[in-house]
Amino acid sequence: MEPDMVTEMIIETAKKGVKATGIVGDDDTTTAARLKTNVPHMVEKRSDKNHVKKNLANCLYGMQKNFPTLSTKNINYLLKLFNYNISQNKQNPVGISRGMDAVVGHAFDDHSFCDDTWCRFIHNSSAKYSSFPYGRPLTKPSLKAALFDVFGAYKKIAPKLSMLSSTQANESLNKSIASKAPKQLHLSGSANLNFRIAAGVAQKNLGSCYLTNVI
Ligand SMILES: [Zn+2]
Repeated sequence: MEPDMVTEMIIETAKKGVKATGIVGDDDTTTAARLKTNVPHMVEKRSDKNHVKKNLANCLYGMQKNFPTLSTKNINYLLKLFNYNISQNKQNPVGISRGMDAVVGHAFDDHSFCDDTWCRFIHNSSAKYSSFPYGRPLTKPSLKAALFDVFGAYKKIAPKLSMLSSTQANESLNKSIASKAPKQLHLSGSANLNFRIAAGVAQKNLGSCYLTNVI
């Protein structure tokens, strides 16, 4: 969402007696700066889970040029471990930080940072990696060092990662409204647009039964 729009919405809702104390979005610093300057009360900025995951995926795909063994399958497995770490350690930055070492270590058959709640190699060293080719772990030392660098950087922002939220509800509302009021159509010349947006909001709040209620 545009920084100006976020600021305006927070100011307008505050006038109506609702104080928004936090927003979720991508790591765009302009929004945080605008909020600080224009909104009198404190608004906490939280990162969006999907943006964080997308940034990591882009970074790993960027490494493929130097490390051809880092296949798409391997990347998906590392992303799965990363997601698991974030989901299991909500409001636990220490757990997230340790988990980042576990993600890389686990992929290279080093389970010293793993936890037996999810790592089956702790009690069964002959287990196979079902997500890796031939069931074997990664081995290249230079790749291991590079991945430790990448995942190590996330340890520095562990407190932020432990407070991630999602903009999924927002995206879902946008999609519902866009299905009723497509951007390529000019609908704002009459009340047409208002009704279409209201229909999108009603669908979000009540489900598709809003239509039978109206009828
Ligand atoms: Zn492990």
